Amino acid sequence: MPRSAAYFLAAVCGGLGVLMFFWRAAPNMWIGVRLPWTFADRQIWDKSWRLAAMFLTGMAVGALFSFKIFIISVIHLVVLGILYPIFLYWRKYNTLRFWKDQGWKDYRPVARCRGCGHFQKLPDAGALAEARCEACGRPFQEK
Ligand SMILES: [Zn+2]
Repeated sequence: MPRSAAYFLAAVCGGLGVLMFFWRAAPNMWIGVRLPWTFADRQIWDKSWRLAAMFLTGMAVGALFSFKIFIISVIHLVVLGILYPIFLYWRKYNTLRFWKDQGWKDYRPVARCRGCGHFQKLPDAGALAEARCEACGRPFQEK
């Protein structure tokens, strides 16, 4: 890869990565880790955003070394960028299910009871802390 292309890639990725450390957008149509699981939970959106910022910065450094390292870091960004929110969501809600309200990004979480396996729609991510299973009365989050 010509040096000028390497510097260009490093500048674009590094610039965006560093920017993303200092500035974080609310869920939107253009930028961020845009998945149903990140739209359903703002906390997971924010954590995924931070991971993407780290990877972009890593990609910038990788581009300076070689194109091969750059490509490897791109693959990591894409694969882990998707797996990470899925993992966080699974750990928090005990399911990957979600439900969708009216708007295009109105994804809402579904929680699965750890006691009886009952699936329950939640109005938003914040409701998880107080919600109890409708079937067995068990709280979804341990206090
Ligand atoms: Zn239950």
